[in-house]
Amino acid sequence: SGASRSLNFGAGPAKLPTEVLEEVQDEVLSYLSSGMSLMEMSHRSKEYAKINKDAQDAVRELLNVPSNYKILFIQGGGTGAFAAIALNLINRTGTADYCVTGTWSEKAAKEAAKYGEVNLAFPKPKKLGNVPKQSTWILNPNASYVYYCANETVDGVQFHYIPETNGVPLVTDMSSSIMTENFDVSKFGCIFGGAQKNIGPSGVTVVIIREDLLGNPMKICPTVFDFTYVDKEKSIHNTPATFSVYVMEKVFRWIKKNGGVSEMEKHALAKSHLLYSAIENSNDFYSCPIEKAYRSRMNIPFRVGGVNGNEQLEDIFLKESEKIKMYQLKGHRSVGGMRASLYNAVTYEEVEILVNFMKEFQDKYEN
Ligand code: PLP
Repeated sequence: SGASRSLNFGAGPAKLPTEVLEEVQDEVLSYLSSGMSLMEMSHRSKEYAKINKDAQDAVRELLNVPSNYKILFIQGGGTGAFAAIALNLINRTGTADYCVTGTWSEKAAKEAAKYGEVNLAFPKPKKLGNVPKQSTWILNPNASYVYYCANETVDGVQFHYIPETNGVPLVTDMSSSIMTENFDVSKFGCIFGGAQKNIGPSGVTVVIIREDLLGNPMKICPTVFDFTYVDKEKSIHNTPATFSVYVMEKVFRWIKKNGGVSEMEKHALAKSHLLYSAIENSNDFYSCPIEKAYRSRMNIPFRVGGVNGNEQLEDIFLKESEKIKMYQLKGHRSVGGMRASLYNAVTYEEVEILVNFMKEFQDKYEN
C-alpha cells in the first residue's frame, strides 16, 4: 500500500509515516477487539486514559523533559496557543518581549497585544531571513517572558541557538520543529507546538510548561486554555481531540522505534543539506533568500529561474513535479516561489528524487 503514496512536501498538515497510517487503518473499525473505533470511545474510558498518558510519557521521554515541567494537550492549534501563552503568562508583570522573525511570531505578538503590553526585542527585519544579532536586542528585564518562534514555517527562518534572557522565562513556538532536534528543555519556561507537521494530525497542540509558571492566569482566561486547570485535569478537562492524540501517540512510538529525536535530527541535517547544496550548486537557477546561519532544516523556500524567480517557469516547475506525484511544493502565498517541507516522515530518498528532478528541470529550461 505504501507504493501508491505520493511524495508529499507540504508544510502542514503534512506527511505522516505510512506505517502509522497502516496501523490506524487496521484498527479503525475495532480498537483492541472492542468492536468500537477509538473515535467512538469515551474520553473517560480506560483505553483513552492510557493513550493520553502514554502520549504524555512519550513526550517526556523523547525530549528528556525534567520532572518540574508539565506536559499538556490543548486544542485551538498554534493560533490558540498564541492567545493561551499570553493569557497564562503575561499576568506577572503585564508585559512581554517578542522577537518577530517571520509570519508566525508576528501573529503571536499581535495576539498577545490583546492581553498585555508587547515590546518588540528588535524592529521587525525589513527583509525576513535576516535575524539581528542577539547583542543588538533590547530586552526588558521586567518582562513576564521573552517569546520567539524556533522555526518560521512560512519564511524558512530557524534559530539554531537558544536566546539568552537573563532569567526571564523563555517561551517558544516549535510547531514546525518539535521532535526534529535535541534541545535542553530546562532553558525554557514554556514550549508549544501544533501536532500537524512532525508529530501527528491537526487538532492537538502540545504544551510543555515549567510548573512554577502555572497558577497565575488572567481572570479572563478561557477554561480550555487555562494551563493550570488543564494540568489539574490531566488534559481531559473536556472532550479532547481523541483521534488526534491517538495518532500522535503512534507517531511518538514510530520516532522511538526509529532511533528517537537524535536520529530525526541526523536525518533533518542530511535531507536539508542535500536540498540546500542542490540550490547552491545551480548557478543561481535556484536560489534561497535566507541567510545561511538561519536557514531552516524543515521548510526550504526557493525560487526557480534566477534570484528573483521566474513565475512562468515556477508554474511549469509545479506542473511537471506533479506529473511525478510530487505534491504541495508551492510556496506560501505571501512569499511566492517554491517551498519544500522536509518533516520527519519525509525520507532522504524522497529528497533525492526532488533534487534529481530539479537538476533535470534545470537542464531542460536553462537557456
Ligand atoms: N506556528 C507555526 C510555526 C506554524 O507553522 C503554524 C501553522 O502553520 C502556526 C503557528 C499556526 O498553527 P495553527 O494553524 O494550528 O493555528
